[in-house]
Amino acid sequence: MDGDESCKLTGKFRGVCKRSFADSCAVLSSCSGSTSRSILRLFLLLVFLFCPVQFAGAHNLHGADGEYDHSVEPPEPVVPVFTMPSRESLLLAARPTTATSSSASARGKLIASYFQPFAKTVKVHWDGENFYVESNGIPSHVMMTGITSWQQQVPLPQPYYGSNAWQFPLFPRVASRPLSCKDNFFRGAIAIAVNGVPIFNPIKNDGRTDTYLAGELDKYGGHAGRADDYHYHIAPLHLQAYVGKNVPIAYALDGYPIYGATESDGSAVKNLDRFNGHSDASGQYHYHSTRTYPYINGGFHGEVNLRDDQVSPQPRAMPVRPFTSPLPGATITGFTRDASGVSTLTYSLAGGVYKVRYEKLKDGKYRFEYISADGGRRVETYDPNSQQRPRGGGAGGGPQRGGATQSGGPPGGPGPVGGRGGRPGERPPPPPRGGYDNRPPRPGS
Ligand SMILES: [Zn+2]
Ligand SMILES: [Zn+2]
Repeated sequence: MDGDESCKLTGKFRGVCKRSFADSCAVLSSCSGSTSRSILRLFLLLVFLFCPVQFAGAHNLHGADGEYDHSVEPPEPVVPVFTMPSRESLLLAARPTTATSSSASARGKLIASYFQPFAKTVKVHWDGENFYVESNGIPSHVMMTGITSWQQQVPLPQPYYGSNAWQFPLFPRVASRPLSCKDNFFRGAIAIAVNGVPIFNPIKNDGRTDTYLAGELDKYGGHAGRADDYHYHIAPLHLQAYVGKNVPIAYALDGYPIYGATESDGSAVKNLDRFNGHSDASGQYHYHSTRTYPYINGGFHGEVNLRDDQVSPQPRAMPVRPFTSPLPGATITGFTRDASGVSTLTYSLAGGVYKVRYEKLKDGKYRFEYISADGGRRVETYDPNSQQRPRGGGAGGGPQRGGATQSGGPPGGPGPVGGRGGRPGERPPPPPRGGYDNRPPRPGS
């Protein structure tokens, strides 16, 4: 066996033990004489035997024939942004309730770890005071299906980035006058889920309509609001399947975490206060999710800034078309998005099947096609730049009238018989107090 052959032999394992292979060839090139060759053979034999055994102890990446399998990809980095210390060490470090740069860093990393399963679409960062969440507000699950009380809105990505990101305090402070969501916060979000989707008050601004019980929510507890912005109104308990049951699935905008329906050790939740929260044995306050009202945080144990009936500051949703009206009797039966970016929402109404197909065009405008049960089509193109922006902070500002570049009135759907807002040319109702997600009280709703 000469030097070249040895190198070829060990080269079989260069994917496994590159360093040893290079080293052995370097040694080989400097060797000469039979004694040296004997020592070298022994050395190469040891490298040959030891290296794959050592590797096999860590991962079995060999194919059936013993060759290195080059098709095996390394696992995706679990924490691409920073090296993640253990959650236990972060918990300990994040305990102080007064902000220091080191405690802010530890606390930021801890909270970031809860958003990490959705890092592909949700970006987070923090400073000494606040934690920030950037997303387009669109979840990876199917949206809208199952809604039986629809207001003709559809989900569109929102620019919750940069100065329009979600935020909550790193170190929540107990409020001297805790505010209930039964009387306040009927606009905008009250929490942000770890998948970057905002969570709104379950109750509408009439003070009594439970959006979940009213059939306004899809199977995941969400729907599209007046700016065509998707959000939940109840606890997104399905997220526990991704993140686990022992970590928060959302953060309330006062900075306290929202856990699932059990304690982090799996035990039953006891002694919740009126806001669905309580303190653990070490005095750490947190909220829980419930399957009945209040579903999520029913108010704010911590301090928040209440302005225009919403937590402030918070991002604005950007409408691209005038808001639409309720369509009584409609049930959403399907929602798809194809590879070219065209979304199709299907709904049934009075035995007919209707569709709304929409897409963003290359020029930045939005094309909506309303297809009725008899095959009739109406196309509207909307220029987002012509939409009035909501005044003041908050996603609850809501879209205003105008913006369609073709005649034919607002997108009232393909004209369902008897449906309010379904008739071409009908103007949408004026925006109610409280903005986009809410409706004036309606008897019996
Ligand atoms: Zn608890
Ligand atoms: Zn809503």
